[in-house]
Amino acid sequence: MTDRAFNFSPGPACLPEAVLREAQRDLWDIAGSGVGILEHSHRGGVVDGIFADAAADCRKLASIPDEYGVLFLSGGASTQFTMLPANFLPADGVADYLKTGSWSEKAIAEAESYGRVHVACSSADRDYSYLPASAETRFSERPAYVHYTSNNTVVGTQFREPPLIPGGTWLACDASSDIFSRPIDVSRFGLIYASAQKNLGPAGVTLVIVRRELLERTARELPSMLRYAVHDQQDSRYNTPPVFQVYVVGQVLRWTLDQGGLEAMAERNLEKATALYDAIDSSDFYTGTARPDARSLMNVTFRLPSEAFESEFLLEAEQAGFAGLKGHRSVGGVRASIYNAFPLAGCRALAELMREFERTRG
Ligand code: PMP
Repeated sequence: MTDRAFNFSPGPACLPEAVLREAQRDLWDIAGSGVGILEHSHRGGVVDGIFADAAADCRKLASIPDEYGVLFLSGGASTQFTMLPANFLPADGVADYLKTGSWSEKAIAEAESYGRVHVACSSADRDYSYLPASAETRFSERPAYVHYTSNNTVVGTQFREPPLIPGGTWLACDASSDIFSRPIDVSRFGLIYASAQKNLGPAGVTLVIVRRELLERTARELPSMLRYAVHDQQDSRYNTPPVFQVYVVGQVLRWTLDQGGLEAMAERNLEKATALYDAIDSSDFYTGTARPDARSLMNVTFRLPSEAFESEFLLEAEQAGFAGLKGHRSVGGVRASIYNAFPLAGCRALAELMREFERTRG
């Protein structure tokens, strides 16, 4: 048993223990080089190997076709909210956005500085607690691209499948909070981005998977740092990249492969989330925040009968060694974030605590 808490943080989130232990060692001396990972030049052979291995393992894990670039950028997913329209939304063009949570709201706000945004559907009318059906989604006539958020981290909703889009356009996805939590067919997307701090590693690096053909025709002149094509041509090292973050992402990708890959992740994630949703559904005390057909396997959100009960529950959970359960300030309640590295034992333990709390207070 470890002295570490069950960490339900929404991100930065818990990392695989094996990766942390290896990082401790490599911080001192990586690959027998006599130099720690934080101290290596980004142009040297050790870092060449780290970047090449991380990209190769990423390709292997998600069967990424050769015509896609795999980039490690900085600035978080929030910079992608800007880079995507800056590169691909012409000033006189329209991009379609599915508005399903506060992160998609932020993505929309950034895109509006570059061109027109058409909101193809929205679940804002019920605080983003559901996902609009595809029959309710209305695309514009010729969108430059269609953007959606595959998992809405704050309320805890998740698309089962990428949305169907009209011909002649392409799909962009903010997959920050569910990337590689299940199999993904990359060929359905033009561009996928994900900040690392949930399923991939530490904060400070963002994975971008982009169909290279799109990079040939960008919408405007841009500073080099904002151009995907520059980062692709320079192997994600146009400037000094966050080497340590990419190193940890590489270790996490390797760990994910060792665990059996994305099919195995999907199976485990379903089992983990089911342990918690069962605890919610078998009780009159807890109420799920998201509509059941839209529930996320990554962020399980629920309410107790009163805010007083919620505060008491969170305090008791903390004392019992459960960290990071407080719901997002805009939603309240409880949020259990259970990304790939979070253990099943922690979900079972939380479900047990919920039952015990209900038995003594309900
Ligand atoms: N998109 C989603 C779905 C997120 O959950 C987050 C962060 N929680 C972001 C974007 C923003 O990411 P960053 O803070 O890395 O810019």
